[in-house]
Amino acid sequence: MAVFACAGCGAELTAPVSRVALPVHAHQRNGDRFMPSLMEPGTYAVDPEPYGPPWRRWSDVGADAAAARGVYAPVDGLYFGAPGAILVAPGDTRGTVVIPERCDGCCGSAGGLGPNLACERCGAEVATRIDDCYRWQAVWFEAAAVRCLPVDGPADLDAGDWEWPGLPPVEPSGYWSLRWQAAVGIALAHVLAASAGAPVAVPGGLLAATFGRTLDTLLPSGPPARTLALAGPGLPDPDPAPDIALVPRHPRTGAAWQPPSGAAVPLDAEVWTYLAFPDDRARVPATGGLPTGVQRDDPLPLRPPSLFRPDRELFLRTLARLPEVRQPWLRALYDKAGGRLS
Ligand SMILES: [Zn+2]
Ligand SMILES: [Zn+2]
Repeated sequence: MAVFACAGCGAELTAPVSRVALPVHAHQRNGDRFMPSLMEPGTYAVDPEPYGPPWRRWSDVGADAAAARGVYAPVDGLYFGAPGAILVAPGDTRGTVVIPERCDGCCGSAGGLGPNLACERCGAEVATRIDDCYRWQAVWFEAAAVRCLPVDGPADLDAGDWEWPGLPPVEPSGYWSLRWQAAVGIALAHVLAASAGAPVAVPGGLLAATFGRTLDTLLPSGPPARTLALAGPGLPDPDPAPDIALVPRHPRTGAAWQPPSGAAVPLDAEVWTYLAFPDDRARVPATGGLPTGVQRDDPLPLRPPSLFRPDRELFLRTLARLPEVRQPWLRALYDKAGGRLS
């Protein structure tokens, strides 16, 4: 575990926190009116990409400079803030004060004016709190403004542990899970790149509802030339092996599980677990219960009022950052899907 302290005066600015991978939905900007915390309490993540103002238009950045930063297709613009921001849950900050004139947004802070939190002891600008509507709430510490101090605490999640609970695709409100929309949107960009532009056969059920519809829209029709399937810990090796394997992304390290063969597309671990083991009730303590093979009908399963839509902005954001997007066929799909969003 670690505590982050002010680089200027040494004051502690966070509670003890354990490092986890950057959540796939960290840059999601669409969602419900009021969003919860991005980070679990007691955790932190590092965003390697520059984020926060200044923001420069694509026409001012240019293709070569964008490619040097890992962006290979035109986007509206890029942030040129410092890379390496440290994300924590707002409740895990300590000893900071708000800089009122930097709090933009309509019902909270959108983070568009630069750091809006200062060290309470020395006044240094240290972080940006984002908690406006439609944004996941988080505090983004500037990498250069803090120092990471190791502290004793519970061991971090084992990098070799590949078991987590599944995340249901429908939230208790009855709407599709925002995290599912983010995870599928990002994974879809990778699946598309791995398809080489050929039709992809997607298994029925939830995979077809979440991945299949968009792939059918973007890829040509015709006999499927590639196959997509889940692969990962606890699943039997698919036979034959799919051309494209959806594998879990480790929530602490961010590493993708490696399939025996084929292209691996990483997916949010809890989304993957639900897809792989949709009927796994083992983690819910219960006494009695229904006989094996009998399904519950009370409460009724949640049915969202609309078809599943992957997060389009994250889909395009990811596609723009894949080197394969420089290939004409994929660039054409990027443009067809709308491109130039972020
Ligand atoms: Zn300070
Ligand atoms: Zn608002």
